[in-house]
Amino acid sequence: MAGAGAGAQAATDMARLRKAAIEKPVSLEPRGSGHHTRGMVRHRIGIDLGGTKIEVAALAPDGALRVRRRIATPEGYEATLAAMATLVREVERELGETCTVGIGIPGTISPATGLVKNANSTVLNGRALDRDMAALLGREVRAENDANCFALSEAADGAGAGCRVVFGVILGTGCGGGIVADGAVLRGRQRVAGEWGHNSLPWPNPDELPGPPCWCGRSGCLETWLSGPSLARDCDGPEARDASELPARAAAGDARARAALDRHADRLARGLAHVVNLLDPDCIVLGGGLSNMAHLYTALPALLPRHVFSDVCDTPILPNRHGDSSGVRGAAWLWPAE
Ligand SMILES: [Zn+2]
Repeated sequence: MAGAGAGAQAATDMARLRKAAIEKPVSLEPRGSGHHTRGMVRHRIGIDLGGTKIEVAALAPDGALRVRRRIATPEGYEATLAAMATLVREVERELGETCTVGIGIPGTISPATGLVKNANSTVLNGRALDRDMAALLGREVRAENDANCFALSEAADGAGAGCRVVFGVILGTGCGGGIVADGAVLRGRQRVAGEWGHNSLPWPNPDELPGPPCWCGRSGCLETWLSGPSLARDCDGPEARDASELPARAAAGDARARAALDRHADRLARGLAHVVNLLDPDCIVLGGGLSNMAHLYTALPALLPRHVFSDVCDTPILPNRHGDSSGVRGAAWLWPAE
């Protein structure tokens, strides 16, 4: 954890950042060049930047999780950058080497502007996060959507290992998706490939229209049905946020909880049927808090074939292997072996 010196370090970092931004615009090498570290790197640092916490970890070359730290996300963009830089330096000091750095972020870096877009943690939107971190650390830093990092982690050495095409789904406070094909994130022209949470709920029932308003400006997005808070609201009303007790309540005979979980599984199956019809991945890996709901792994394989345009649909629906570590692991794997 960042100690008492983190505040002073953060101030120093911010001073350096401003100085670097004024004096020396950072020009980045093309991806994969890695000339400054070739032959030296043994560990990869991954950072999972969330709205409430920042987690950092270092992976050994074989994928073993080494140093790991977690702090609360500070208020404001510049303090967030400084905190991440401090964590990287602490980990590198402990390991005694300079590492590659990848960051998983909510949202994505727009190819049109080079700035973060689509982040529900809106302090990041419009910021050149990867370039600002590169200026702070004096090296190239890679940033990628957090759901893409999750999919990459599970495809690399997790539940989807050995599959050519992996669709990763995060069912948490939001609903994200990511695609990994042949070991690499499929980003897409707009960098929105896999952003399935903001597709609308397929085959809606009359009482599911027009659907709840979504923070993205549309209504009835899958996220407004499938996220943890959405499930809680569907069961217990507009003030509810926490769905974690619903499986236990259903098992204890709470009919309202049972019905809400059934509606949720059916909606998730309809949403995933679109993914199968479009992408037909070799497996689908579930992450986020709701991926702990064991009934999904029996309910979804039974529901999915009803909606998929195929005589057979046996797409494996798998729980993630790396759990809460998938964010940092996927971010670290943004620097694959050269
Ligand atoms: Zn939306």
